[in-house]
Amino acid sequence: MANCSNCGAPLSGSLLICQYCKTRQDVDLAMIHRFTIEKPDSERICPRCHIPLQTIDLHLGKKFYIERCVRCLGLFFDPGELEALLDTAVTHVYETDRQRLDELQNVKRSSEYPLGYIDCPVCKKLMNRINFGSRSGVIADKCRDHGLWLDGGELRQVLEWVKAGGDLYHKQKELEIKQLELEQEKKNFQFKVIDNAFSATREVPVPAPENYELDLLPMIARLLKKLFA
Ligand SMILES: [Zn+2]
Ligand SMILES: [Zn+2]
Ligand SMILES: [Zn+2]
Repeated sequence: MANCSNCGAPLSGSLLICQYCKTRQDVDLAMIHRFTIEKPDSERICPRCHIPLQTIDLHLGKKFYIERCVRCLGLFFDPGELEALLDTAVTHVYETDRQRLDELQNVKRSSEYPLGYIDCPVCKKLMNRINFGSRSGVIADKCRDHGLWLDGGELRQVLEWVKAGGDLYHKQKELEIKQLELEQEKKNFQFKVIDNAFSATREVPVPAPENYELDLLPMIARLLKKLFA
């Protein structure tokens, strides 16, 4: 169990806001050792609070900028950034902990925000809602062109899911689906070959060669007549 970063009171379960002093807990970036504020006001706008997001540097080997809202602690990642962050933050996961994954998937999500679509911090178009990694249980908001929004607390959930081997599990499942598709394709191809073989044997005996010649004879005769007349 963790304690409130402000008043030290114990936090129960998956609570993100302290019951006593109402301080919102920064559970996401606590997992990343340090970050610095690069720009306090970016041009990007928080889809929850409608205030400018700040640009922060996570110092992952090199400069690594993401946007963050100081009020709701939501995070915005450019395309590919979250994957890069997960790769650095979570290494050496070779097995999947199915029990832990099931637990994580069934965690009750806080109903802090109303269900619905929110604006992309960049283009202000409504983002799509996606289940991160198909079944992590984290519903992220994604703009196809600009990136991914995670509400406060969701990065930790994604990290926990990846640590339990969720990503591995997801990739394994994808592979299995691809294999099934390949098998199906192979079967379809075999059916086609058999089908073609059958239709070929059915069609061959139909045109009788003798009749064919007989039909041609009068035509040739007419042609010869025309040529030498
Ligand atoms: Zn507190
Ligand atoms: Zn916000
Ligand atoms: Zn956008």
